[in-house]
Amino acid sequence: MARKRIVAGNWKMNMTIEEGRNWLRSFSRHHDLAQLVEEVIIFPPFTALAALANDEQGNLLQWGGQNLHEAGAGAYTGEISGPMIRDCHAGWVLVGHSERRTLFQEQDDLISRKMRRAIDSDLQPILCVGETLEERESGQFMEVVARQVVRGLADFPQHALDRLVIAYEPVWAIGTGKTASPQDAQDMHQHIRETLSRLYTQAVASSIRILYGGSVKPENAASLFACPDIDGGLVGGASLDPDQFAALLGIR
Ligand code: PEP
Repeated sequence: MARKRIVAGNWKMNMTIEEGRNWLRSFSRHHDLAQLVEEVIIFPPFTALAALANDEQGNLLQWGGQNLHEAGAGAYTGEISGPMIRDCHAGWVLVGHSERRTLFQEQDDLISRKMRRAIDSDLQPILCVGETLEERESGQFMEVVARQVVRGLADFPQHALDRLVIAYEPVWAIGTGKTASPQDAQDMHQHIRETLSRLYTQAVASSIRILYGGSVKPENAASLFACPDIDGGLVGGASLDPDQFAALLGIR
């Protein structure tokens, strides 16, 4: 069965509720939101999530949190739980984004617990993986990324594999304007799919969507999205501009 393309926008620590509403108005001038061919998922900051997910136009898109706590509730001042994200009418969550790994010291064992918590909270997690420039230049990048996949999924329930999405985001390409070449990205996506097929079955591996992230823009998206193992994009900077983000949809 063909894998449905996902185009996802990670707004990071940007956008107030009003800015998000303006973004929605501009974005919806480009596309009929009720007729989108791709799955379009936006990850706004938590402060805007409920307002935008429940907006009249916003509720025609899909929404997610950029992070969640590993526990379902409790004394964790400043943290956000999976059930709270669900409560905002959001169905998705990013787990293990490279900024969480590098700036907030998140490691694979914590990421694995968060993946589990996402499923237990009835959210669809996008597991983000990717090598640093150092790891690429030392030639170890294939092992590094396979290890992140295997460890990040260590406690992932088999019954939820149809809810799993992976994003390959080379750290050196995030926010830098540098993109992996379509061939390098395809090679890594194929390697991730082979890793998934060793972990599960070939049928499961070929059903899981694997997104590319790292300076995706309308100018480079067509050649990336044309690769057989790339099932869409996770977009940071370009997702803040509704016109640029809209231009990523419908690319064939
Ligand atoms: C990201 O943060 O997931 C990302 C890919 O950012 P950018 O598109 O800005 O490189």
